[in-house]
Amino acid sequence: MTDEEKLLVRTLNLAKLPTRKIMDILSFLRHGPLPYTKKYVTNVRASIRKENDGYDMMQLPDYFRNKQAEDPRYYYKFKVHPQKPSKVLCIFWADGYSRKMYDLYGDSLSFDTTYKTNKYNLPFAPFVGVSGHGQNCLFACAIIQDETINTFIWLFQTFLECMGRKQPRTVITDQDTSMKEAVPEVFNLSKHRNCLFHVKKKAEEKCCRTFVTKGDLHADFTDIVHNSLTVAEFEKLWQEMVQKYDIGVVNYFKIMWKERRRWTPVYFKTDFLPLLHSTSRSEGMNAIFKDNVASTDNVISFMTEYEKISERIQDMEREQDSLTRTTKPTFWVHNELEIKASRMYNRQIFYRFQKQMKFAAQLHVDVVENGLRFEVYKSSMLAEKDFRTRRYLVLANLKQEKFACICGKFQKDGIVCAHILCVLVNLNMAVLPDKYYIQRWKPQDRKYVRDKQFNVPMELTEASRHLRYSQLSTILNEMASDGARTNQKYLYVVNESERIFAGLDEMTKADELRELQARGVAVEKEPPIQMQVPHPDGYDNLQDPDVVVSKGRPKSRYLTAREKFLTKKQSKCSHCRSQDHNIATCHNLHIDKSEFEKKKPATKKPTGPSDSSTSKQNGAKRQRRKAPATQVEGVL
Ligand SMILES: [Zn+2]
Ligand SMILES: [Zn+2]
Repeated sequence: MTDEEKLLVRTLNLAKLPTRKIMDILSFLRHGPLPYTKKYVTNVRASIRKENDGYDMMQLPDYFRNKQAEDPRYYYKFKVHPQKPSKVLCIFWADGYSRKMYDLYGDSLSFDTTYKTNKYNLPFAPFVGVSGHGQNCLFACAIIQDETINTFIWLFQTFLECMGRKQPRTVITDQDTSMKEAVPEVFNLSKHRNCLFHVKKKAEEKCCRTFVTKGDLHADFTDIVHNSLTVAEFEKLWQEMVQKYDIGVVNYFKIMWKERRRWTPVYFKTDFLPLLHSTSRSEGMNAIFKDNVASTDNVISFMTEYEKISERIQDMEREQDSLTRTTKPTFWVHNELEIKASRMYNRQIFYRFQKQMKFAAQLHVDVVENGLRFEVYKSSMLAEKDFRTRRYLVLANLKQEKFACICGKFQKDGIVCAHILCVLVNLNMAVLPDKYYIQRWKPQDRKYVRDKQFNVPMELTEASRHLRYSQLSTILNEMASDGARTNQKYLYVVNESERIFAGLDEMTKADELRELQARGVAVEKEPPIQMQVPHPDGYDNLQDPDVVVSKGRPKSRYLTAREKFLTKKQSKCSHCRSQDHNIATCHNLHIDKSEFEKKKPATKKPTGPSDSSTSKQNGAKRQRRKAPATQVEGVL
């Protein structure tokens, strides 16, 4: 293999191309068969990977520091060995965007671990949530040493530290015994529940034979677990099921019963946990990582993969944001209720609401107590497929516009259930009261989101020019991408930026003045620069009256000493000090520079200051102001 080919393999290796494809490319470049085998290329790749081995953890702090320089809200923390502080045990990190997402949507948290994402085979542990569009989002990630109680406690405490100690309302995890201890220990204000999906899957595996031989047991079991409306109903039906199918001796059913308060949905029916019953979102996230990261990869390449996934999540959120803002949804009936919902909800959430509307249209209402109690149920034809028919009790308080349904969907998902919508129609109410549109599902006020994103503590920006620069770059970038959308927005930004430039010029001027004074140069006093806060009387934009031409008035006013000083022209050629060319075109280069310094040319008469304010002249002013400082230096 030639050196060039080795270099190419190095590049293709970085792009994570399969060896098979690398072979194709190499043979394409050689216009023929390769003198080495696929096995050889695999070995070359392995040795490239090994080169990084010893450096992997050493590179990590640099990687994190760079990230933090770009993104001041980037957070990372290592857990190191208590005796050997150079030995990394756990790595925790969260970027600014993820932390913003937790600020906005940290009401619920799904947590799960997975293996085989890195060559150390350490468990990978993402903290996953549900965004305002009902999509997966990442709050933070960690690579942890093991799955013991102590490790989880460290991890969860670090998470809370990173997130300003804000606890979620609900945490959902799988049935891990360490988590059972660690979650309530750290998230002491949150409700902890186990993933329903894991319990059901385990039941199906462990009691496979029982389910197969007992006819309707599986359907009955599923109905009881998913559809029980009250704890009393669930407990009664479960006992009946155990008797009916004679499964009192089946061990896993005993365990499920004992642990029922940790996993059965009915015990959590009013605990906010939007759009999920399981950690499937965490698992989905884990699968994305597994698909994209080879288990032989080092941590740095894992981080690169994390960045890509994090970016993809951001893109998907932005796409949904713009979809909600700029497009119209597909309406179903186009009535007041639906139109209002389309304005109050992010688009994907609106479609979930619409689904409830469609479902409500298939329901019947019995008035139990006029204006107070209602029973909602499916028509007997539709209910045929159900294992049990259920009647949903809806309570109403018309004066306070309050509704409550026994199913608890609004408390859990933050979206009103079909049963309440059905009662609403029965009561001839055209729209759903505002309080049933919760903040989390509404299109986010952009200012609110911006504040969360750009709110960097003053102490930080005060100390670092680099940080200020990168913060400004982010803000201006955002402004540019929004400002470019329409010509009107564009012109607005251009005009406003003129104003900002003028303000910056004023500040530069003030700074230079202070500098001159500090050097002891006598400067004529000018009124102090004032910040431009609009006065409440609204007279800030008063314009000068038109000038009436009268005889005997001087054409231009006299210059102050400072103005003369500031407008003095600097000689242009740094070599011969001539004013009609610069050093690049100087034809006196053969004469020594010191010759010209002896016979300084006399300074030209100052030209009058211009009072026009076009941008070109503003630019000229900016340049001119820098001039005196260098001259003064020459004098001193
Ligand atoms: Zn309901
Ligand atoms: Zn010259």
